[in-house]
Formats: sequence, C-alpha cells, structure tokens
Amino acid sequence: MTESYDLITLGAGSGGMAASRRAALHGAKVAIVESHRVGGTCVLRGCVPKKQLMYAAQFGDALAEARGFGWTFAAPSFNMAQWAAAKAAEAARLEALYRDLLQASGVTLVEGWGCLEGPKTVVVGNRRLTARHVLIATGAAPVTDSLPGIEHCATSDGLLDLQTLPERAAIIGGGYIAVEFASMLSRLGVATTMFFRDRAPLRGFDDMLRDAASAALQRAGVNLCPGLVPQRVQQTANGLRLVLADTRELEFPWVLNATGRRPNTSGLGVAVDAHGAVPVDDRWQTALPGVYAIGDVTNRKNLTPVAIAEGRALADTLFGATPRTVDLGLVPSAVFMVPPMASVGPTESDALAAGHVLKVFETDFRTMKQAFVGGHERTQMKLLVDAACDRVLAVHMMGTDAPEIVQALTVALTAGATKADFDRTMALHPTVAEEFVLMREPARMVKPPAAA
Ligand code: NDP
Repeated sequence: MTESYDLITLGAGSGGMAASRRAALHGAKVAIVESHRVGGTCVLRGCVPKKQLMYAAQFGDALAEARGFGWTFAAPSFNMAQWAAAKAAEAARLEALYRDLLQASGVTLVEGWGCLEGPKTVVVGNRRLTARHVLIATGAAPVTDSLPGIEHCATSDGLLDLQTLPERAAIIGGGYIAVEFASMLSRLGVATTMFFRDRAPLRGFDDMLRDAASAALQRAGVNLCPGLVPQRVQQTANGLRLVLADTRELEFPWVLNATGRRPNTSGLGVAVDAHGAVPVDDRWQTALPGVYAIGDVTNRKNLTPVAIAEGRALADTLFGATPRTVDLGLVPSAVFMVPPMASVGPTESDALAAGHVLKVFETDFRTMKQAFVGGHERTQMKLLVDAACDRVLAVHMMGTDAPEIVQALTVALTAGATKADFDRTMALHPTVAEEFVLMREPARMVKPPAAA
C-alpha cells in the first residue's frame, strides 16, 4: 500500500527536523525518514558531544588557574570512561526529546534508509511513500578516501565513543575538527601531533586567528607539522604507520582522520556534483521538480544554524504564506578550541579582494584573570571597518567567550552598525568584550592590491 504525504523529509538531523516540524505547524502531513538515530550529527556525534568534551578538557586549565587564586587540592585526574557514559546518557536524553518533539508535532517517523524513486516517491524497505514535495536533509559523514589507507584511521565519531584515551595520537588535517580535537586531546593528557598542508591550520579564517590558533596549540603542547601530510597510512600490529612525503615513517597507536566530510548521498537516487553534494538554487530546488535539499548535503555553509534556518524557510515557502530565502552573507562561526575563536564577516584578505579600503582595529592582551595567575594565554580582537562608509564589515576574536561575544556582535553587524555606533556604545566594565567598543585608533589602513 502506498502512503501519501505533503512532505517527505529524508534525514532527522537538525535541518530535517526543523523543516518537518515547521511544515507540520503549517498543517502539512509530514513523514521523516531516518536510518540511524533521531537527532543527527550535531546532537549525537558533533557539536553537542564535542562541546561537552571541550568543557571536560577546560577543567584542567581552570583547576590550574584556581591554584593562582588561592585554592589547594590533590592532583586531579580525568576518566574518559566516566565522560563517555555521561555523554551517552545525554545523547539518549536528547534523542528521546527529539522523538517526543516529532510526535507532538504530528510528524510520522519512518525508520530505515529512504531512496528516491522519481521525484514524488520514496521507498523505505518494503514501504512506499509518495508526497507533493521531498526534502533531502541527509547531512554528511567523514571522508574515507582522502589518502591511501586513511580508512584505517579513527574519525571524530569514534573519538567521542572512546572509553580510554591513547597516550599518543596523530591528527591528519588542519580544519575545524583537527584543531578542536588537538586542543582537547592535549589537555586530556594525550601527546598530540598534527599534520596539515598549509603554513597554519584553519585555512579560510583570518590570518590573525590562524596564527593565534598555532600559538595556542603549541602552548598546549601540540606538535604542529605544517606543510607535512602523510602520503599513505598503513596498519601495523600496534597501531598505524604514517609514511611521510620526506620518506620518514612514524608510528602512532591512534590516528584521527580530520580531512573533511562528504555529503551522504549514496543510494539516494539524486544527481550530485564532483564533491558528492546535491546542487540547489537559492530556493533549495534540486534538478528534480518538487525535490529540495538543505544543510550539509548541499555542501555550502556546513553549519547547524544554517541547516535549521534553511529548513524553516523552505517549510514557510512551501506551506506557509511567506516564501523566503536565507541570507548567508553574515554567518558567524566558531572553533571550539581552548581558548575558542569566532568570526563574523570576511577575513582581511577577502575584504581587500572584494575591493574595500579598510581601517583595521586590533588589540592583543592578557585578560586580568590571566595576568593574576601568571598565565600566558592571549586574547586577540580585530574589527574590519570600510573606510569609505564607516560600516563594520567583520569581527574576529580569539579568547575566552569569543563565540558568545561574536554571536552578540553579529546582531550589530546584521543591523549595519558603523564604527561610530561602536564608539558611542557605553562599555561594560570590567569585561573582555568592552575592548570592542574601546578601540579608538586603527592599527593600520589598507587598500586592495589594485588601489594600493
Ligand atoms: P574542514 O573542511 O574544516 O577541514 C578539512 C581539513 O582536511 C583541511 O585542513 C584540509 O586541508 C584537510 N585535507 C583535506 N583533504 C586532505 C588530503 N587529501 N590530505 C591532507 N589533508 C587534507 O573539515 P572538518 O572535517 O574539520 O570539518 C567538516 C565541517 O564540519 C567543517 O567544514 C565545518 O563546516 C563543520 N564543523 C564545524 C564545527 C564548528 O562549527 N565549530 C566543528 C566541526 C566541524 P586544506 O586546508 O589544505 O585543504
């Protein structure tokens, strides 16, 4: 028997859940198909458990700092199995919550792998579902073919399920996942080496932050190997051997593959681009009429809030009275290392390449807390201001609470704030964030290469 719906969503992650619940709110009859657990990467294998591990890693620093404030206590130790049990319990709680949310919204959960059979029909096992609209929101998974033998390495999914931590680890890659886990593992007592292709990690971030990330990782004891990646990985009796371009061979008991993620499209029955992503227009329409795609499966801005915003906007467009797109012009992002970094707006080099003449405001200091305990952690901030119209184009920061501060400043930038608006904003003292409204003189003025 064929079941018929207004919307079938493939994938019950952040984007698919948001689209389905919003569509149901508009009165649509919705089915959501999920082959794994309800909640998706962010909740079960990504942002949420990753941040819980970052909290765990930060306690070591906090305890060391506490001694500087007069506390004494016996030497602390970390138990990964205890953390893993707490993480599993929290994931189960969140999954149950998500299942309840689907039920409360009247969305039908269909468990299994969904495959498109033409634009309006989805087959899940021996069930056949049809709908006016189909949404692909199947997310992405770690790549397993970036280097010969990389499939032998662990991925971030596996790391978050470890019961004990290795004594030594290598990380291949220099992106978000590589940096976040290098920062955490080194704090949890793992001697960590990072191999990446460029001069600094985090290609695509502002140079100030990339250099700050290198310095922070080195302070944490991470052995950075810029410009050096294995040519291949081989399994050995005791772990993995990395064969480097300079012919050196290094053995590690545990290696993390952090060389990127690829959209989950295999077996779906849709056309994909060279990266395996589903191509869409600005209304998330794929090449098949009535079939849409949002989130990481489209490989544009692979961030949870983007997938959620796209899912809600698509549901409003299809079933509400408010067709709309999502503006991806000012999307903040953060790297949850220690200390964390966050950005909104273009990098200095991208802003120059776009033709802006820039006033660059920068500051670099130790917080009063760091100074009090004799710490070496630095806080760095940068504002990029369009010299022609005074508009603040970008905010970049590394330091405690950077993601929280940049999220709040994103409101100002979205509203079109100028540097004069920052200057007339009253400071809140004593905070770190007040520095953003106290930078009076530009560190420099820079022009695009053609105009320089
Ligand atoms: P990224 O795309 O951020 O980084 C991939 C890294 O792998 C880059 O350093 C890249 O190097 C390197 N790489 C790729 N191919 C090879 C290769 N063949 N040999 C050697 N190195 C290679 O991917 P991640 O896996 O770190 O994260 C995936 C996505 O998940 C991110 O894009 C992000 O959108 C999201 N994410 C977001 C987080 C957050 O918001 N805090 C946290 C974690 C993930 P190169 O730069 O030289 O190309």
